[in-house]
Amino acid sequence: MHEMSIAMSIVDAVSDKARQEGCSTVTGIDLVVGRLSGIEVESLKFCFSAAARNTPAENAELLIEEREAAGRCEECGEQFPVASYHVCCPSCGKFRVRVISGEELAVKSITIE
Ligand SMILES: [Zn+2]
Repeated sequence: MHEMSIAMSIVDAVSDKARQEGCSTVTGIDLVVGRLSGIEVESLKFCFSAAARNTPAENAELLIEEREAAGRCEECGEQFPVASYHVCCPSCGKFRVRVISGEELAVKSITIE
C-alpha cells in the first residue's frame, strides 16, 4: 500500500528528529499534502497510526493540510486551480496545461517534547 510506505517514512523521519534533539516523544506533526500527490488523506491517517506504534510518534497528533493544485496554460499563460492532469484551460480551452503545484508531500513542522 502506497500510503503505508509514506506513513513509515514520516514516522522514521520524525523519530530521528526527536532522537537528535534528545526528546522521547513527538506530540504533533503538520503535513502538507497536495491534491495531486495521489495520497488518500484518510488512508494516510490510518496507516500513520499503525506505523507509529511503539515509536516516539505513537501519540502524535497528525494534522494534514490539503493544498489545492494549480496549473498554468502554456498557450495563454492563465493560471488556475486544477483537480486532475487532464484539464483544459478555462480561458482559451486548449489542452496545454502544465501542473505547477499540488504534487507535494512535506512535513511542515513537528512538535517534540
Ligand atoms: Zn489558455
